[in-house]
Amino acid sequence: MATQLRRNSTCSEAEWTARQELAACYRIFDMLGWSESIYNHISVRVPGEETFLINPFGLLWSEVTASNLIKIDSEGNKLCNSPHPVNLAGFTQHSLFHRHIDWAHAIVHTHTPDTMAVCSSAQGLTPTNFYACFFDGAVGYHDFEGITVRAEEGERLLENLGQNRVLMLRNHGPVVLGATLYEMFLNYYMLQRACEIQVKTAALGGAITVPPEVVAVHQRDRDLMLVKDFGRVDFEAWVRKLDSVDRSWRE
Ligand SMILES: [Zn+2]
Repeated sequence: MATQLRRNSTCSEAEWTARQELAACYRIFDMLGWSESIYNHISVRVPGEETFLINPFGLLWSEVTASNLIKIDSEGNKLCNSPHPVNLAGFTQHSLFHRHIDWAHAIVHTHTPDTMAVCSSAQGLTPTNFYACFFDGAVGYHDFEGITVRAEEGERLLENLGQNRVLMLRNHGPVVLGATLYEMFLNYYMLQRACEIQVKTAALGGAITVPPEVVAVHQRDRDLMLVKDFGRVDFEAWVRKLDSVDRSWRE
């Protein structure tokens, strides 16, 4: 299947690399317990094109492979032969961000219980733990308007995202955008952890709020440690873990 896709020359080397990385990303999210049945999406822009790759609707994230990812245009039209449909409702917000934000190469939206819990709390994400402090002042919030399938909501989604890379959809779940798949992965990883810890801390009866000056130091020192390919070594480490269990995503 994989060689067929490449041999047909409908798939450039750049697209094939993007397909493999995205398939691995779906499998890693699933392995970490962050998938939601057949729902939710991770999407990436095909390098050099105004086309996108997304999961085939109806498959579990554990069933996604490089070949069965669906290539679509920004309107959601399928550009490849696939027996599977695309969940257009779910792609609405992804396509909006891909179209309007040049640097938004990779986008994920999840429904994990801990991120949904924080999105549903009045205070949102608070600077009360190591990971959460990274996001302080760098998260947008969007009030719940029902399922995000109406195009007219787009303007407010973009406005509420602002310059941030994380948008917390209140009463719903997070959207994390990245200039690379690696960056999106590591930012999502830290956001997921931040929310898990916030929920557990709340269960203990209260949290210590980190003072703004300490948050500033925390973020400054994080920035000093940033490597060029933010998240790449993390992602590659999880790919090795994935390969030790199942390599079928590569096909
Ligand atoms: Zn959702």
